[in-house]
Amino acid sequence: MVDLLCNFINNEAVPAGGAPESLAVTSPHTGETIAQVPLSAAADVDAAVAAAEAAFGAWSGMTLKARAAVLLRLYNRLQVHADELAALVEREHGKTRTEAQGDVAKGLETLEYAIALPHTAAGRVETVSRGVQCRDERVALGVVAAIVPFNFPFMVPFWTLPIALGMGNTCVLKPSEKVPLTMSRVCALAADVLPPGVLNIVHGDRRAASALVEHKAVRALTFVGTSAVAEQIHARASVLGKRVLALGGAKNHLVALPDCDVEMTAQDVVASFTGCAGERCMAASVLLVVGDQPALIDRIVAKARALRPTGDCSASDAAPTMGPVIDTAALQRIEDAVAGAEAAGAAVLLDGRNAAEFSARRTESGGFWIGPSVLRHQSATDHAMHSEIFGPVLSILHCATPDDALAVENANEYGNAACVYTASGAAAEYFSQRFQAAMIGVNIGVPVPREPFSFGGINRSRFGAGDITGDAAVEFFSYRRKITTKWAVSAEKSWMS
Ligand code: NAD
Repeated sequence: MVDLLCNFINNEAVPAGGAPESLAVTSPHTGETIAQVPLSAAADVDAAVAAAEAAFGAWSGMTLKARAAVLLRLYNRLQVHADELAALVEREHGKTRTEAQGDVAKGLETLEYAIALPHTAAGRVETVSRGVQCRDERVALGVVAAIVPFNFPFMVPFWTLPIALGMGNTCVLKPSEKVPLTMSRVCALAADVLPPGVLNIVHGDRRAASALVEHKAVRALTFVGTSAVAEQIHARASVLGKRVLALGGAKNHLVALPDCDVEMTAQDVVASFTGCAGERCMAASVLLVVGDQPALIDRIVAKARALRPTGDCSASDAAPTMGPVIDTAALQRIEDAVAGAEAAGAAVLLDGRNAAEFSARRTESGGFWIGPSVLRHQSATDHAMHSEIFGPVLSILHCATPDDALAVENANEYGNAACVYTASGAAAEYFSQRFQAAMIGVNIGVPVPREPFSFGGINRSRFGAGDITGDAAVEFFSYRRKITTKWAVSAEKSWMS
């Protein structure tokens, strides 16, 4: 018997009401059920939003400095428990321990940013006419809801929570039903740090998500997940007059120019498409090789082939490893993508479907293990070249010229990341200015902007305006109150006198 998780409302664990339906949370390592997550109904969402609404007045009424001090205490608490949280991420998501530690560390960076808000988010004041001053200040919006995906159980919720809370909003989070444990633990740890109602969790699936979107008291909403859902939630929340930022899927292209450093490029490409088993919105999934570069492709295949399943006792400690994917649906999607590419004429240079150690691990453990695959396509129109597979699969396409590579990248409908590998500053600049993506890498395979730089894509990787972190998030999670004052009566008349 495993535990049925509770929602978290007013700093207390609250069971979902009635006799809620529930879903099994499975271990990607073994396929075993490790928890049951309740599929909360609209009434549970109402309770969480009501708690957040009730807490808003006092929380938003505190000074920014006072809220930042509370967030600093939260940071210290989470730092003390960082290893425990990373272990939970590893357990429910399947990341390697190093990747799980990265998930927690990167989330905490956004919290660091929010702790510094008193130093960065001050308003402005200017004398605009003699005796007349304008000032602006940032004002909290109210209840902010966050609907998040499975692939970063800690970091993605922490794209929204720290800055939204820092700016004076109160929050309701709906974690992914596939990875509900990490943020449940975060809320328990936060219980004696945050005032009741400031941060609430409601577990569930699309129904709980939709109830949040529809809720009148939810003033702003962030969503991160697949593009189809992002687009739909953005459209609906916009119609309802909410402020909404919905980040979607991705298909990130790397371009290897003939002058690239073969060893570094191969290392980065493999780390990018196999890191977190390819379940990253910043993962490389297409490599555009300009010119004939057989040595590069051989190195990529060799390095990917050398990966072992996490925890493989026969591998040396230094051997690079890869974790399982999230569930059987992901396994199926990845296998279908490789089979579909093969049927369309792509050469399968490395076939993760029958990678010996991964297949053996899958059979022995019942977990969702699959090795990395490398495909060489003949055509940019192959399905695997443009659909998001979200697994450890790299599609390679040869391009005759740099502009041919740019044309392929520019034609893809997403716009999260794009990278160029080259020894030439001029070429790097040429590509940086022309890629159709918002996060650009030069000789970097996963160009995630680190704080204080903001995170966000364009095109079908983002619906709405702005970015989810950094100064763009300060704008998103507040509105500007503009106050114009005249206290000294000036002899000099103007239209403002
Ligand atoms: P998903 O779209 O299946 O689910 C995301 C969240 O939305 C979950 O909480 C889920 O319960 C909820 N949901 C699902 N269907 C819904 C519906 N019809 N209505 C309302 N809510 C719904 O995504 P996922 O599989 O959990 O995550 C993987 C996806 O997230 C990938 O496409 C990946 O690229 C994307 N992602 C994007 C970014 C980014 O920054 N752009 C970051 C991380 C992940």
